[in-house]
Amino acid sequence: MRLLIFGTCSGTEPYPGRHHTSFAVERGGNLYWFDAGEGCSYTACCMGVDLMQTRKIVISHTHMDHIGGLGNLLWNIRKINERTGAFAGRDLELLIPDIRAWEGLLAMLQTTEGGFSRNFTLSAREFGDGLLFDDGGLRVAALHNSHLRRDLTAGGRWLSFGFLIEADGKSIVYSGDTGGIGDFAELLTPRRDILLMETGHHDPVAFAKQLAARADCPGRLLFIHHGRHILDSFTRVQREVRDLLGDRAQILADRTVIEL
Ligand SMILES: [Zn+2]
Repeated sequence: MRLLIFGTCSGTEPYPGRHHTSFAVERGGNLYWFDAGEGCSYTACCMGVDLMQTRKIVISHTHMDHIGGLGNLLWNIRKINERTGAFAGRDLELLIPDIRAWEGLLAMLQTTEGGFSRNFTLSAREFGDGLLFDDGGLRVAALHNSHLRRDLTAGGRWLSFGFLIEADGKSIVYSGDTGGIGDFAELLTPRRDILLMETGHHDPVAFAKQLAARADCPGRLLFIHHGRHILDSFTRVQREVRDLLGDRAQILADRTVIEL
């Protein structure tokens, strides 16, 4: 199993060398995407990732720095399939907290080449807390967070989530955009192998201190979704975070591969 990091930036203005947030878990020849920020499929292709391995795409919330590359990802899957036929008959599922974003995107895609007709199944569904799927032993569960409040116009649904990803005895927690550790503390027990923590809304040094004090501090802390706290003071932040957690802490860059 591998963790493939495509984009590491939060929704700041464009930042050289970084793209908006997206990563995938690769396992058994299948790809499970989490968020789809700008250029994610382009970056994946540049990393040698085969888009035809895509099984599911999970979106934490529908802000642009998490869905800006979704249209291109789906368009590229269709395009490569058109040439190779490698995706014919496959099932692709999109899990998205607010179906309105998908309906708008689909309407746009249907105005592109061939009306976005395809010979594979593409389905989309909203989700709430709990198990999203168990796909051959890869399990993903969602837990809402306080980044976005309930949408009372949509029946009180939560609109922003973090995730627990488990397979082959390994576990990863992805914070999603979050109000803080209180949002996802229950996912950290028992002790997890990796925490992917967003830093677009947090001071990474303060967060590393908070985490280091916990008995269930995960085996590795990987920062993603960087904001100005990191981008404007990268060297200092990296040094201070390493002073607290050593090699267990890493400020992720685009195009990083983590072996699990
Ligand atoms: Zn964001």
